[in-house]
Amino acid sequence: MTNGLLQGRFGFIFGVAHKSSLASAIARSLDQAGMRIALAYQSDRQLRNVEQLVGTLSQDDVPLVQCDVSDDAQIEKAFAVVGEAFGGRLDALVHSIAFANREDLSGGFWETSRQGYLLSQDISAYSLTALTREALPLFDESGGGSVMTLTYLGGERVIRNYNLMGVSKAALEMSVRYLAADLGSRNVRVNAISAGPVKTLSARGVAGFTGILDTMREQAPLRRNIEPSEVGSTAVFLASDLSSGITGEVIHVDAGYHILGN
Ligand code: NAD
Repeated sequence: MTNGLLQGRFGFIFGVAHKSSLASAIARSLDQAGMRIALAYQSDRQLRNVEQLVGTLSQDDVPLVQCDVSDDAQIEKAFAVVGEAFGGRLDALVHSIAFANREDLSGGFWETSRQGYLLSQDISAYSLTALTREALPLFDESGGGSVMTLTYLGGERVIRNYNLMGVSKAALEMSVRYLAADLGSRNVRVNAISAGPVKTLSARGVAGFTGILDTMREQAPLRRNIEPSEVGSTAVFLASDLSSGITGEVIHVDAGYHILGN
């Protein structure tokens, strides 16, 4: 359906750890839509999984860069490598990254340590700003760009055990709005996809995650969980001109669950 929609465009995706990662679904969808992509992964332990994903794509010359987003020097280097590979331009940036210590994803939020709080905010929220800033010169070469990040309903409402990650997602969603306001004049759009629960490595860290999946299947208007490919197709939409009038938005891809009052 989206074949060729993103032909001639370049995208940089952060957050592939495993084939189950939402970033992997996004990579597959952007690839199918004809976008040339580069992938950043956190550590060398993930390189094999990243290479396996690349093996399933239609393009074989995919720049791969190791980048821990808590380190500005690594971010700078990652964009230098990708800028070089893509002729100095970029059209889309995908931020699909979050982290909190496991002990901060259960029990009481009031027990969160200062160190755990700062770590989660740094990696899950601040990194969007750091990556966007580094992408700007490349977007300017393209005449604009589309930035997207991944968030969850727990950043808007209290969801049991999501705790610190909910507070980090609230900061992330507000960062989307401030970045969108700042960068609109450079034709850079910034949006978030609020995905329904999907079983990934990170999601397993949230206590009682299987119960969240069950509740969603029973109660969401569409009476089912989402498919990762539905996040991927929304990413294609956000990277394309079909969404040219949309910025600062949080799009819920959650089978409608967020509209419920119960
Ligand atoms: P995942 O574990 O596959 O992806 C999380 C990614 O963050 C991994 O690639 C990990 O390496 C990366 N990361 C963590 N710390 C990093 C660091 N210091 N530097 C660079 N990368 C780092 O899990 P996922 O569910 O695909 O998560 C992707 C995004 O989607 C996250 O923002 C998550 O909060 C969000 N999200 C997930 C769900 C869900 O149910 N799975 C729902 C809504 C939103």
